[in-house]
Amino acid sequence: LIQLYLPLNFMGTVYREIKQATLDIAQMFSLIGRDPEIQDKPGARPLQVPAGEVAFEDVQFAYVPERPILRGVSFKVGPGKTVAIVGPSGAGKSTISRLLFRFYEPQGGRILIDGQPIADVQQVSLRAAIGMVPQDTVLFNDTIEYNILYGRPEATMEEVEEAARLAQIDRFIRTLPEGYDTSVGERGLKLSGGEKQRVAIARTILKGPPILVLDEATSALDSFTEKEIQDALDRVSEGRTTLVIAHRLSTVVNADEIIVLDKGIIVERGHHLDLLAAGGTYAAMWNRQREVDEAKATLQRATEAE
Ligand code: ADP
Ligand code: MG
Repeated sequence: LIQLYLPLNFMGTVYREIKQATLDIAQMFSLIGRDPEIQDKPGARPLQVPAGEVAFEDVQFAYVPERPILRGVSFKVGPGKTVAIVGPSGAGKSTISRLLFRFYEPQGGRILIDGQPIADVQQVSLRAAIGMVPQDTVLFNDTIEYNILYGRPEATMEEVEEAARLAQIDRFIRTLPEGYDTSVGERGLKLSGGEKQRVAIARTILKGPPILVLDEATSALDSFTEKEIQDALDRVSEGRTTLVIAHRLSTVVNADEIIVLDKGIIVERGHHLDLLAAGGTYAAMWNRQREVDEAKATLQRATEAE
């Protein structure tokens, strides 16, 4: 009886994992699209992530042959380190995250996690190892609890609340008459962009993946919300390998490496202060951003004074 029971229980676990990963894929598909022809190679093994090192080796990619998007991109994110990718819109930043998820296959080069080419591992295991906080979170038309629990359906309510606390959304949820049972999404309570993003962060904290991909929002969040989201993101990325498509100065300043991508090529790389001192693309970007920030602050002070 025990012999029969164990495999069944094991299958149950595997089934739940597969089902969850499939839902993740379905959600991602609706958000960003992918090449449906990508399949596991025969005999593909599950990805093993003992350390969490991510490496891009001379990656070349085009969605359509006549228009190269990434033209030989190489970088490494060491275990637990943070690499920030910055650069103009259309540079290929989000494409890098899609390739890491293997939603598309590079035409040249390789992507490795802890030495294993991601093209050789089971996709379910690859996606289970990576947590993504997208720029525009789409929530399920269900309760807040469901939306957070989705990160790890077997988690307890205490763990859900702990994740929400770390994501700086717990206090907000408690102000709602129905708390965690509040329905959100199209047919429920409309959450702001910042609130939705913090629900997504809570979900990712609960999932606890060794590798994180964060696509920071560019949208004009007020500075209080921005600070709360920054704190939440800092917490979730602690001790995890993090690839962040960064818009916020604070993320970039603390990154172990900053990569400046322009038209599919890394044009600059290094630490914040070195790049500032170099006086190139990065320095120009941040001086411009500082001017914008100062103008906003002046405007806010003027508004408050009225
Ligand atoms: P970034 O995130 O740096 O703004 P992306 O990686 O999203 O840039 O996009 C890089 C380029 O690839 C853009 O010019 C974009 O229009 C193009 N692109 C993105 N997705 C697709 C797609 N599915 N098919 C064709 N072109 C695409
Ligand atoms: Mg993008």
